[in-house]
This record gives sequence, C-alpha cells and structure tokens, in this order.
Amino acid sequence: MDNPLRYAAVNCWERYDSAQDQAAMDILGAEFLDFLTHCKTERETVAWVMRHALERGFSQEFSQAQVVRSFRSKAVLLARRGTESLRTGLRLIAAHADTPHLDLKQHPLHEECRVALMKTHYYGGIKKYQWLARPLAVHGVVVLMNGEVRTVCLGESDDDPVLTIMDILPHLSSKQRDETVEKAFIAEKLNVVVGHSPSSTTTTDPVAQRVLEILHATYGIIEEDLYSAELQIVPAGRARYVGLDRSLLGGYGQDDRLCVFAAYTAFMQAAPGSQTQVLLLWDREEVGSEGATGAKSRFMVDTLTDLIEAWEPHCAVRHVLARTKAISADVHAPMDPDYQDVHDKHNAALLGFGPVFSKFTGHRGKVGASEADAEYVAWFRRVLAQKKIPWQMAGMGKVDEGGGGTVAKDMAVYGMEIIDFGPGVLSMHSPFEISSKADLYATVQAYQAFYQSQE
Ligand code: MN
Ligand code: MN
Repeated sequence: MDNPLRYAAVNCWERYDSAQDQAAMDILGAEFLDFLTHCKTERETVAWVMRHALERGFSQEFSQAQVVRSFRSKAVLLARRGTESLRTGLRLIAAHADTPHLDLKQHPLHEECRVALMKTHYYGGIKKYQWLARPLAVHGVVVLMNGEVRTVCLGESDDDPVLTIMDILPHLSSKQRDETVEKAFIAEKLNVVVGHSPSSTTTTDPVAQRVLEILHATYGIIEEDLYSAELQIVPAGRARYVGLDRSLLGGYGQDDRLCVFAAYTAFMQAAPGSQTQVLLLWDREEVGSEGATGAKSRFMVDTLTDLIEAWEPHCAVRHVLARTKAISADVHAPMDPDYQDVHDKHNAALLGFGPVFSKFTGHRGKVGASEADAEYVAWFRRVLAQKKIPWQMAGMGKVDEGGGGTVAKDMAVYGMEIIDFGPGVLSMHSPFEISSKADLYATVQAYQAFYQSQE
C-alpha cells in the first residue's frame, strides 16, 4: 500500500517500462556509448558539441536566436532565446568536459633498458594502480612554432598500436605488497611504453631516437614541439554495454561526460521556453576550476554580457544571473554494492532510481561548498512531479568519510539558484566507469523539463 506520508524513490526501469520508452532508452544508450567512445578529452568534447550545434543551425553571431560560442577550444556556451525578457533570468545547465587522465610531461621521452618511455603527470583524482597493465591511447594536439596544429589520436582504431604502463610481476612484489597503496604506486613510475626497436642513425638512446623519427614522419614534429604539446594518455577502446541485459553503460570519462551528453541532448530536444536556455561546458573542474576555461574564469560572465548586448542592451548581467535558475550537472556516487560501508544508507542514492539531488558538496562540516535553498529545491520537486520523473535526494558518502566539489559554488557567487543534480556513476574516476541506461534516460527527461519550466 502506498503511504502518502513517506517518500519512496521510483525505479526508472519500472517508470519507463513501456515499449516506447524502452526503445527510446536503447537509442539514447547507443548514442551515448558512441559519444563517449569518440570524446575522451575536453577539446574533443567541445569540438563535438560545436560541430553538432553548427549542423543544427546554431550561429556564432549573437544577433541570432540560437547561438554557440567556444573559448580556446575547451569551454563552450550554447543559448536559445526565450519569449520572456532576459531580466527574468536564465535556465542554465553547467557540466564539465574534462576528466581525470595522465598528461605527458614537458620532457616526456627517455630510454631505459632498451625501452623508450614517456613520463606523465596525472591530472585530477586517480587511483594510480588502475592505469597499469592496460591498453592506453594518446589524444591531443601538438602546435608547431609556426602555429600549425597537429591533432593526435593514436590507439583507438583496430590498426593502431596502443601504449601501456607496466606493472611489476607478482613474483617480485613481496616488498610492494607490504606497502600502503599510496607508497606502492608512485607517480614517477607512471611511464608510458612507446617503443623498443633502435634507430640506425645514432648509438645514443637509439630506441628513443627511433620514436622521434616516427613522430617526425607521422606528424612532422620534433622533440621541442612536445614541450608545448597537450597530449593526454587515456584508456584505449570503445565504451561498451555492461551486463547480460545491456542495462549498464561502461566507459572512460563519464564524470562528467554523462552529464554533458544528457544536458546536450535535453537542450537540443527542448522546445524554446519562456526563459532563455543556456548550456555551459567547463574545463578544469577536476583540478579546482582554475584557469581561463574553468568555472572560476570570466568566460560565462563575459559571454553572457556579449549576448545581452546583442539581445537586450540595457539589461545588466548581474540582474540576469541573480534571477537565474541553474543545475550543476555532475555525477553522483551512489551505493557501491561492495563498499556499502562508506555510505550512509539513509542518505545514499541507488543506481537506477533517477538523477540525484545533492544540496551541497564539500567535506567535513560542509566546508568548501555552496548549498541550494529550500525554496529552490521545492520548486524543482514541483517541476519533476509534473512529469512523473524519478529523482533521488542524497548526500555523498558518510559525514567525514571524504567529499568532493563541483562547479556549483563557483556559479552560486553570482546569486543564481543552483543545485547539483545528475545521475549516479559507479567506479567513478576509474578508467572504466559504470552508469545506468535508465538513469541516463530519466536524466534527459529531467533536464528537458527544467529547460521548459515556467515562472
Ligand atoms: Mn564531476
Ligand atoms: Mn570528478
């Protein structure tokens, strides 16, 4: 019997069990796996969004009603003009396009024991042992002194070789076994194997020389070009269904490209609303949102200022932002079946029960976080209830167990109403993250309802 006094989270598989919803869910899941396979860096993600938006008629000229602008190929803003004045605020969804990975160091190439290696420096929160003994790819750009950009994507097609980082064999790991994880796996040993055969042109590091010769023949680059390159080491291979029932989506970079894809899809499906709809993709969230393309940058305010100038010249950007309703679209850590003890089960989300509200993030006493107002959360519940969209309210982990941050606090400073709201991801920050096909579907419904919400 339904108890009207108690809230029961709704399972998305049951809510969306019609043939029509199931078919739409399958199409969405397949599209997402394809997106995830092809977008493994912030640059690739922003390029994908730009290309698709331009194909759909979005303009880089702000005189138009549907516009797109990217910044340094790493952040992008899309906007669709509403029927109401900008003074009534925006409906804004922000997600981040960067993901934890390994960057090549400035002096990456060296040779040891007749093997050529490239040194790395990790970006974001990784568990180092997860990157060992697995196929890796390199994605990025190399810019020559004359300004020419060489795009690199190696390790993804069946014909490509892959790279890898070696691990020590168990037979000789007795010392390693006794160490803490922090000490057993150290960053300076995250060196990527790039070659083994020697060049005949020199006796000094001939294997490294051979790698340089191949780089020169393939990309027209020399060692000095590597110093200015942005080359990221990422897990090689396709994103895949997981489970006999193909109900789970597995692949690298779902934090936060799961939200990027859900928000982009919802934005494109949404009809023009009363308020102007905005999608904003940030870079550098995984390292604190600093820099020219992170959420602490001027990109949002400056771009919106230009937009206001074109659409409603006498409207102040601060007034627009203070009336804005926003979602920080970022993934949540639901209950892990094998590590339930790190969660507070009374406040934990479950995979398959829809996108998750997180009123605040931060750590140890809500430090370093913004928090959504009661008024805003109530408004949002109303929007979702109207469409019977499943959702959950949760906190991340036990109090004092750890924590995390999102772009919400960096955007809340403008006075907008903002809350973290996104689907759950298991094995978060690993080379193979897992999400629910049903949660993705519900999240797109939720984001679309938000974009089209009135008042
Ligand atoms: Mn995230
Ligand atoms: Mn993250």
